[in-house]
Amino acid sequence: MLRDSVSGLRSKATSRTPRHFEIPKDNRGIVKRVSDYYGELTFDFKTSEDISDLIKKEIVKAIDAGLGIKKEHAEAVANAVTSWAVKNGATHFCHWFQPLTGGTAEKHDAFFQLNKEGKPIERLSASQLMQGEPDASSFPNGGSRSTFEARGYTTWDLTSPMFLIEAINGRTLCIPTAFVSYNGDALDIKTPLLRSISKLNTVATKFLNLAGHQETTSVHVTCGAEQEYFLIDKAFYFARPDLVMTGRTLFGALTTRNQQLEDHYFGLIPDRILAFMQELDYELHRLGIPSKTRHNEVAPGQFEMAPIFSEANVASDNNQMVMTTMRRIAEKHDMMVLLHEKPFAGINGSGKHVNWSMSDNTGLNLLEPGSEPQSNLRFLATVAIIVQALHRHAKPLRMAISGAGNDHRLGANEAPPSIISAYLGDTLGNIFKSIAEDTTFSPTKNKVIDLGTNQLAQLLKDNTDRNRTSPFAFTGNKFEFRAVGSSHAIGFPMTILNAAVTEIMMEANTYLEAELAKGQSVDQALTSLTKKLATESHNAVFNGDGYSKEWVQEADKRGLPNLRTTPEALKTMTEKGAYDFLVKLGIFQAEEIETRYNILLERYIKIREIELETMIDMIHQFVIPSGLEYKNVLAKVIKNQAAINVTSHFEMESFKKVSAKIDEVYALSQNLGKELNGNHDDHQKYAEKIAMELMGVSTTIATICNELEELIPNQFYSLPKYYDMLFLR
Ligand code: ADP
Ligand code: MG
Repeated sequence: MLRDSVSGLRSKATSRTPRHFEIPKDNRGIVKRVSDYYGELTFDFKTSEDISDLIKKEIVKAIDAGLGIKKEHAEAVANAVTSWAVKNGATHFCHWFQPLTGGTAEKHDAFFQLNKEGKPIERLSASQLMQGEPDASSFPNGGSRSTFEARGYTTWDLTSPMFLIEAINGRTLCIPTAFVSYNGDALDIKTPLLRSISKLNTVATKFLNLAGHQETTSVHVTCGAEQEYFLIDKAFYFARPDLVMTGRTLFGALTTRNQQLEDHYFGLIPDRILAFMQELDYELHRLGIPSKTRHNEVAPGQFEMAPIFSEANVASDNNQMVMTTMRRIAEKHDMMVLLHEKPFAGINGSGKHVNWSMSDNTGLNLLEPGSEPQSNLRFLATVAIIVQALHRHAKPLRMAISGAGNDHRLGANEAPPSIISAYLGDTLGNIFKSIAEDTTFSPTKNKVIDLGTNQLAQLLKDNTDRNRTSPFAFTGNKFEFRAVGSSHAIGFPMTILNAAVTEIMMEANTYLEAELAKGQSVDQALTSLTKKLATESHNAVFNGDGYSKEWVQEADKRGLPNLRTTPEALKTMTEKGAYDFLVKLGIFQAEEIETRYNILLERYIKIREIELETMIDMIHQFVIPSGLEYKNVLAKVIKNQAAINVTSHFEMESFKKVSAKIDEVYALSQNLGKELNGNHDDHQKYAEKIAMELMGVSTTIATICNELEELIPNQFYSLPKYYDMLFLR
């Protein structure tokens, strides 16, 4: 089959009209408002009119107590959701879960059944709602398959609403579930996340009670995940095997204007993109996902969406749905969404800013400084606890954001480095410093701040410092975990963060109890706790430029780990001690950590192998043939000119340059192929070799490919260029 020429693709991409879609009108002919259709594709038993209030109350009670629900209650929900889903056009249901691939999985089953009399009916039984049994052997399980055979169970997660997904020819009811082995080992992202949320709830409730908040009976984690992404025209996407196979371009010469003018960020959103964003928001809102902001990002072709924050488990499910919905809607607009952390070398990558905090049943945000003296002290103690968590558990936190894609981004002078530190800003940073050093804090030359008044809240509001170079920044009333990759399942890093904070908060509770027993006041106890923690963890606070070389040296002096690559980060999972707290808290079992180590390492290796093999392939399929075509033309010119006694200077030089580069890139790719075909029994060593050696070789190869791309005239170059992918729409 003949491929479209690149110039054909260009005219395709630039002549498309933005897809028109209309938000439906209500029966009075007025365009529906978001509030009219928000959540129309979701089913929450709590708001269903087909379930009695008594049953709802009983179910909520069971959830709060962490108990299973009664079969007859599940039956009531199953009946209600079936009639709702069928009425809304669903033919199938599925248990929707997050296996350790980082994506989501679903196995569809029809509502359709034959009853005893052989009559066709639509039905979902209580047990079908509560439990499913997908074949676990088709999902990564890290080699522990033998211990639990291939059986895995999905169990209904009552805390996250069910929803309908739409395909061209019908709808399917998705039931959010956890995925565990038959002896209870977590095979997914959700199970440990739920465990960590529940542990933090208990510990933080106690903390608030000790800090004087007697009305607090529960605490939940809040999360708002900002999602960065690239959009490119579909025509270019399918003409680049690297994008299709690996999600990123493996080489590509930079254009003359990239992002140096800084004119894309917050700039005018192009029509075609805005049309996509509008339809995306509509679909997200129908799914009950509170999409709130949309804008251009730093790089050309890069954009961002952010929802209003919600409870962490729901936010984690929602973010997965955001990613799949983006893909689905983009295709309708003849575009492809790139969620890879670094689709284009030399251009800003994409991250996911995971905004994180804790809230109690009364609506109190633990990271919001208040107007009461005590709430300020509670706020400072909470921040100190979190910083200490970051300090002590830097390695697991770094591990949780690792991955082949993020390796290109972290520390690449555009994203936080792989050193885990906290940014508090000057104001809060200085407050901690003065607490640790027993000095008074003066925000301005002649003003001393009294932490016992509401000045703090005001002060922090006035000093909403912006620092994009920190992996973990305090931003007014929440922390922002910015080192998370754009393709990541946020449930995993949040689990580790929740666990790390839980451990320190547990110790803080013990400390507070002892102080109070000694007769100290709550204020005194909170103050001395903050002082103790601020003193111990001040090394993890860094307010400077995280992109600078100086910080890398400084961090080394401070003894902070700097795990540059995924294999190094994953290796810490095999070290003694660093992960014990997760087991002690009951968030992971030791085997589950081992399982994850195996899976993540294998994943890293496979991703890199696919990348390197694709690279070799593309050199032979595209780069070298393009070079040969150009050489052919040059050879003809040189020959013709020689025939009329004209010397070929430029032509000869170009010919030689192209020849030399082709030889060089050919030799390097042959060697790389040999390396990949070698014997690699020790996975850890092999992964490290890939990260430290082979990735270096691939960078050299990419550079030569880019030089060839620049030497070869457009008409002979058979791959879409950065120019096409980033600028043409
Ligand atoms: P930015 O300037 O970084 O885009 P925003 O104020 O737009 O910051 O907020 C970013 C995200 O933080 C949003 O998703 C928002 O809902 C979320 N967020 C705000 N408050 C909290 C909180 N208390 N807990 C968790 N996330 C929060
Ligand atoms: Mg942000």
